[in-house]
Amino acid sequence: MLLVFYETTTACELNCIHCRANASLEPAKNELSTTEAKNLILEISNIEGVFPMLIFTGGNPMLRPDLFELMKYARENRVAFSLSPAVTDRLDDTALEEIRKEGVSSISISLDGSNSKIHNGIRRYDSFDRTVELVRKAMSMGINVQVNTTVMKQNVMDLPEILSLLVDLKVPVWEVFFLVKTGRGTTAEEITALEFESVNLWLAGISPGTINVRTVEGPSINRLRIQRLREVNNFDMELFRFLDGNTDRSMVGTGFDVQTPRQRIETLFISSTGEVYPSGFLPVRIGNVREKTLYSMYSSSSVLEKLREMWDHVEGKCGYCSYRTLCGGSRARAFATTGNYLSSDPLCPYVAEIAH
Ligand code: SF4
Repeated sequence: MLLVFYETTTACELNCIHCRANASLEPAKNELSTTEAKNLILEISNIEGVFPMLIFTGGNPMLRPDLFELMKYARENRVAFSLSPAVTDRLDDTALEEIRKEGVSSISISLDGSNSKIHNGIRRYDSFDRTVELVRKAMSMGINVQVNTTVMKQNVMDLPEILSLLVDLKVPVWEVFFLVKTGRGTTAEEITALEFESVNLWLAGISPGTINVRTVEGPSINRLRIQRLREVNNFDMELFRFLDGNTDRSMVGTGFDVQTPRQRIETLFISSTGEVYPSGFLPVRIGNVREKTLYSMYSSSSVLEKLREMWDHVEGKCGYCSYRTLCGGSRARAFATTGNYLSSDPLCPYVAEIAH
């Protein structure tokens, strides 16, 4: 699967302390026009060999006047799409109904705390009550909902309460992002390496029957899952590789990992002005959709090539870690911390064994 994140605009009413997009009330100058955005959708529909999923993100995509026109265009061109809106008054019942009618695959709603004090404090906007109400409402309308939480110092101790709230709400998917210090996030406070390990260990123990947990920029969870299995069942890694058939990776280098290491997921990020990056958290420029076709960038980028086989390229501790084919470390965090996307994940405390 190829997840294509399109940052429709950097305009947003919220002022979240960790905002990757560094969003503000005004859109960036020179954002893609409606015609250019439609061309992008067409290009996505023509990418062969992978199943593309377009994610309309921002900023707040609801501030993009042509959002519904773009959704309709995606539907007409058979491009599956999701939406990642900010929770404001714009996302009212009428808008939700329109989104549903356009055939959205899912919407992701951000919830950074189990109460208004923590959530609103991080988002710097009074949206906690409306967020909870919106999750309920969207699910009652039959829209697939996932909740996103960014883990940082301010909410790390609140994670169990957030989980309880999500379980009460019967949310099926919880995507847990580990803060990467990019955009406005450079000033947000990251958790420590030990907290990172503890949270991943805790997440690894949550049964999919409770909620489906995915992590973003926390691929160490794959190591911890395997370590748990080995401890409990004297788990045979070679057998796992044989059974898996896709032995090795949970992701193709772009910072997304998933509950099972059997899925391959690639990501591309298109900024509001057409810049193309491996992911929003990894702003290593691949090109611009105004200069080249998306497919040519996707198929010939040396950055993507390295990320696809990153276990051959990662350096330092990640480079000799025996879990590097399942984990590989967060390339985005490595880049944000050192400027080198192939260096070790600075938040992983694992003392790596030498890979054989
Ligand atoms: S050392 Fe790197 S590859 Fe190994 S578990 Fe930690 S982050 Fe993953």
